[in-house]
Amino acid sequence: MGLHVVEHPVLQEALAVLRDRATGPPEFRRALGRAAAVLFLEASRDLPQETGSVESPLGRAPARRLRSDAITLVPVLRAGQGMLDGILPLVPSARVAHVGLRRDEATAEAERYYANLPASVKGSVAFVLDPMLATGGTLAEALRLLAEAGVAQSRVLAVVAAPEGVARLQAVQPRAEIHVAAVDEGLDGRKYILPGLGDAGDRCWGTI
Ligand code: URA
Repeated sequence: MGLHVVEHPVLQEALAVLRDRATGPPEFRRALGRAAAVLFLEASRDLPQETGSVESPLGRAPARRLRSDAITLVPVLRAGQGMLDGILPLVPSARVAHVGLRRDEATAEAERYYANLPASVKGSVAFVLDPMLATGGTLAEALRLLAEAGVAQSRVLAVVAAPEGVARLQAVQPRAEIHVAAVDEGLDGRKYILPGLGDAGDRCWGTI
C-alpha cells in the first residue's frame, strides 16, 4: 500500500491552522475543507475520464469529462463530514456514502453505528475521509466495509497520521492508498495523536 505525504504549501498552511490550539470551530472547518481539497486533488490525478467533445461558442472542442459515477466519497462520521465541504464543490456529482464509526474510548476499537453503502458503490473508487489516522481501527473497519461492498479501490484521505495507524492499515488492507499532510510522532496513552491536533470532531463541531 502506498503512503503519500503531500507537501503542497496550501495543505501545510491549512495544517498549521488546524494544529493551532487558538483556532476556533469556524476557522477549523474552513482549514479542514482546504486541506481536504488539496488531499483530494493529489489523490485523484488518475481518475477515469471520458473523451468526447463540446460545442464552444466558436466551434467544436475536444473535452475530457470526469466519470462521477466512478467516485464515492465516504466521510467517516463525525470529523470526516468536515472534509466533505472542501471536496464536493470539486466533484459535485460524486456519490456520498456516509459511514458512522465511533471509537470505544476504553478499547480504542471501532464500533459501527451507521453505514449507507448502496449497491451502486460497487466498482467505484472510494475516497475515505477522516482527518485523523490514529490507531487505524476506525479506518480499517471502514475499508473492510467498502471491500465487502465491492469498491474497486479505496484511497484514504487523512490530515494527520500516527505511524501505528499507517502500519495497521498496511497490514490489513495492502491495496489501499493513504494520502496525508503529516505523519506525527505516535499515540499517547488515550490513543490520541502526538502532537496531532486534538479531538478533530470536537474542534470541528464545537463540542468541546
Ligand atoms: N481522533 C482524534 O480526533 N484525534 C486524535 O488524536 C485521535 C483520534
